Amino acid sequence: MAVTRFAPSPTGYLHIGGARTALFSWLLARKSGGKFILRIEDTDQKRNTATAMGQVIKDLRWLGIEWDEGPEIGGPNGPYLQSQRLDIYNKYIRRLLDEKKAYYCFDTSQDLVQMREAAEAKKESFSYPRPEVFPTDSDAQNAREQGKPVTVRFCVERDKPVVVDDRIRGKVTFAPEELSDFIIQKADGYPTFHLAVVVDDALMGVTHILRGQEHLMNTPGHQLLQRALGFEVPQYAHMSITVSDNGGKLSKRERPNTLRQFIKQMPEPNLDEIAAAGGIELEELERFLAKKSVPDDTVVDKIAAHVGAELPEINVVDFERSGYIPEAMVNFVSLLGWNPGTEKEIMTVDELVSLFDLSRLSKANSFFDRKKLLAFNTEHINTVDAAKLTGYFKRYLELNNSPILPKADDELLKRLVELNRGARTLAEIESKCMAIFIDDDKLEYDPKAVKKVLHKSDPSGIEMLPVIREKLAGLDVFSNTAVESALRGITDEKGVGLGKVAQPLRVAICGGTISPTIFDTVSIIGKESVLKRIDTAIEKFSKELQ
Ligand code: GLU
Repeated sequence: MAVTRFAPSPTGYLHIGGARTALFSWLLARKSGGKFILRIEDTDQKRNTATAMGQVIKDLRWLGIEWDEGPEIGGPNGPYLQSQRLDIYNKYIRRLLDEKKAYYCFDTSQDLVQMREAAEAKKESFSYPRPEVFPTDSDAQNAREQGKPVTVRFCVERDKPVVVDDRIRGKVTFAPEELSDFIIQKADGYPTFHLAVVVDDALMGVTHILRGQEHLMNTPGHQLLQRALGFEVPQYAHMSITVSDNGGKLSKRERPNTLRQFIKQMPEPNLDEIAAAGGIELEELERFLAKKSVPDDTVVDKIAAHVGAELPEINVVDFERSGYIPEAMVNFVSLLGWNPGTEKEIMTVDELVSLFDLSRLSKANSFFDRKKLLAFNTEHINTVDAAKLTGYFKRYLELNNSPILPKADDELLKRLVELNRGARTLAEIESKCMAIFIDDDKLEYDPKAVKKVLHKSDPSGIEMLPVIREKLAGLDVFSNTAVESALRGITDEKGVGLGKVAQPLRVAICGGTISPTIFDTVSIIGKESVLKRIDTAIEKFSKELQ
């Protein structure tokens, strides 16, 4: 039985890498009948934002990754926000100090830079020089009073190599020269990530730690700390990286980088306006453009919307906004560095839970194949439960402030998604249905469709429209079936195919040749608007013919 956790540092939206770590940890817990914990690692006071934590929670819920213990639901090992666990960490730091397994240091960041440079000059890897005699509590107190930074370092045992037995990489050996006494308490009194993660994983009974390979180099230190505190060493699995279409590591930076390039290519960007749209000072925008800083995700999103830049989707919410559904995301993300051992790629969450197995995690980098994701989305839109799909569509419309939302109730939304099971994304459903909801006098016409369907075909669409109008005007009920029999009646009377009726009607009421089935489209738009739109088209496009 595995107890796993996802421990994000809430510094921005949940991105694909984080979603994968969460998903694999969750799958392992579900598969083994264990427990999945969500813990928020918010000990970096400078970088945290409360909104980011809220967003991470929302994104996990949207993906369907529910936790058994954690924020909002609590549990026996809480609190689950590290910033609320300082007393616990202090107790362990105290113990290490008392047992002489840790010691105070008073170096400024400048001192540390100098030490590192000196080591580099000698071509040695930096290793902190542990003092012969450890400073006492009163030394630390004096240093604080003199305004010096007081930190605590852990004594790393360097008498033998440390072996990390990784479930993906096998045994990875770290030589003593690669290890150095590291900080466990910062000058602001907060623990470092290293101390907090080790204490929390032990107290929360975590048995399996799945995390990105960038953390592998931290693990020997964590294992030594676990031993020093008498904790059991959990099992580790460090996951390989995901490569993006541009060949580099799939990274959150792709969005701000794309935005920067976009603004730089604008002929005359109004920087004041752009900064205001992002809610930042002009100076901050300039620093961003000069590659000196990166604003928060939300600022990047606001600016991108303002300047009309399309940024690559990286964060979970980006995919949601583009019209992907969670079933597809979960299925796709599950195959980034894992395989089920069969040819089958399209899987439901239940199938993933039953097939998931740590031994099939791969050491090789995975490729973030956006075409494949689109194909997965198409499959899942086609098969997912209608009520769920309706819910996703509604959320999609909300996120995008779609004009459809205020005009459609849940029942109609359900009808729209059911009519569009073949769509690749929810965005496609939205755009296909948009004309239905537009105000009659705001309808825009695709000139190519007008020419081809209304003017060129034989019989021309414009000739057909009055016939269609008359038939539809005679209907009392505008139900799907009533509309269908009326339109089919015309095909019989005129001896033409359905296309000759449906297409002109579509152009007249939707402005182009794309819409859901014509019978539904007509019945949803309703009699009054349909007749009005037909009249407008007849008037507008017969004149053009003359
Ligand atoms: N807070 C760490 C991160 O976001 C967690 C690392 C871990 O899983 O141990 O990278």
